[in-house]
Amino acid sequence: MKIAGLQKFTLLDYPEHTACTVFTAGCNFRCPFCHNSDIIYNVPSAISQDEFFEFLVSRKGKLDGVCISGGEPLLQPDIIDFMQKIRKEGFLVKLDTNGSMHEKLRKIVSEGLCDYVAMDVKSSPGGYFKTCGGMVNVQAVLDSISLLISQNKVDYEFRTTVVKNLHNKSDFEGIADLLKGAKRYFLQQYKNSPKVLKKGCEGYSDDEMRELCSFVKGLGVNCSLRGV
Ligand code: SF4
Repeated sequence: MKIAGLQKFTLLDYPEHTACTVFTAGCNFRCPFCHNSDIIYNVPSAISQDEFFEFLVSRKGKLDGVCISGGEPLLQPDIIDFMQKIRKEGFLVKLDTNGSMHEKLRKIVSEGLCDYVAMDVKSSPGGYFKTCGGMVNVQAVLDSISLLISQNKVDYEFRTTVVKNLHNKSDFEGIADLLKGAKRYFLQQYKNSPKVLKKGCEGYSDDEMRELCSFVKGLGVNCSLRGV
């Protein structure tokens, strides 16, 4: 595991739980709006696994769980061992993923190896290329969406960071088609940050986000806003 960063406490990253967040190094996407752009390349580890587990054990009784975020965590060859070790120490595991490593996600979900999956849905199938900054195996992403909706072993959510210059209403029609029957879907308002991968991204206003959320709900998806 290449751990590029550790946030020692968060009330936001794991729904209804106290947690720490591990940021893994490397990502196979290049989303222009990425605000973890300093870790999406092959950066060195900031802390070792041993150091992480020393920290984690010291938080027994204080934290409920661990969020594994990135980058794309499923690129890590030993991610499943890592999850199992965390659970063995008595913590819940939440995985953040872009859904592109479908076979690994399938194993994790079908064997119930984590407790919660938050999967990004970057855009409609036709919008993936521009939203992810390059070539993406969209079919793998679609398979991951279907997998999460059809299983009942692991709790999950879908989410989209909404960027004005990358998303329009027709993208959300395409997303809604994919998410029929999904437990929950969040629209996250894009906010500028100094670490964003490409300058020039812009968020929708609070009112525009509310309107978009109503629009998606009207398409039959259990949609809510986050960050508005
Ligand atoms: S926002 Fe995109 S580029 Fe950044 S970590 Fe997530 S999937 Fe990778």
